[in-house]
Amino acid sequence: MDTIKRAMLFEGKAIVDVLDTTEIVQEAIKVHKLSDDAAKALGRVLTIGAFISSGFKGADNKLTIIVDGKGNGGKMVVSADAGAKVRGYIQNPKAMGSLEGVVGRDGYINVIKDFGLKEPYNGLSEIVCGNISMDFAYYFTKSEQLPSAISLDIDVKNGVCKKAAGIVVQPMPNCTEDIIVILEDIVNQMKNIASIVEERTAQGVIDFYFAHFPIKQLDDINPSYVCSCSKKKVSEMLMTLGRKELEDIIKEHGKIEVGCQFCDKKYTYLAEDLDSIFSK
Ligand SMILES: [Zn+2]
Repeated sequence: MDTIKRAMLFEGKAIVDVLDTTEIVQEAIKVHKLSDDAAKALGRVLTIGAFISSGFKGADNKLTIIVDGKGNGGKMVVSADAGAKVRGYIQNPKAMGSLEGVVGRDGYINVIKDFGLKEPYNGLSEIVCGNISMDFAYYFTKSEQLPSAISLDIDVKNGVCKKAAGIVVQPMPNCTEDIIVILEDIVNQMKNIASIVEERTAQGVIDFYFAHFPIKQLDDINPSYVCSCSKKKVSEMLMTLGRKELEDIIKEHGKIEVGCQFCDKKYTYLAEDLDSIFSK
């Protein structure tokens, strides 16, 4: 089972998260038939999506992340619900090349957090590096004023994800500069966090690298690849097109087929299904 191990450091001055998202990335590979290089890029964004949504309090809170760096992978979109229930897709699932080549570095990261308020939180920052880890560290620093240290790493070969992992350290407002420097130094040594988690487990990383500081372990979170699509949502979307338009499509193609971009599930409507769409 995937896991997020979380601990408070230095009496609440900072929080460390160690994520093991291997099953999520394996599921994304299966759903989208990702190339290894596409999996390395999308897997990193899914992992950061699990991290961000794991902190959501309301059951109906929603996260959307768009990473558009104009690389050969095209745009990546990750969506998540509270409790780190994530899904995502990449425009070109067969993309090949270096991580920076697949992600690109001529674009932006957009993070939208919908807490059910009038306006959703909308954060934007440019892609500075194209390796996702530093791009999100920059995003948190610039857009959310949280100077974070982040390392994400996906170990995948021939469609098999051996380990997907990440570490995120975020200071709280009362954190001091010297604590930030200590924690950044530790995270900066973890470029290969996937093999470190593979060797030690996520809990082992906390125990080995952080347990000698004042520490308080928080509850575990189990992130997963879950799609929130449903026949009801698809019907509501189709309703906005109008009955005439739908009838024309069915006349021409015999049916309407809508595929979910996140989980590849197909929803099919025949002529006799139209009444049910407009009966509500
Ligand atoms: Zn779906």
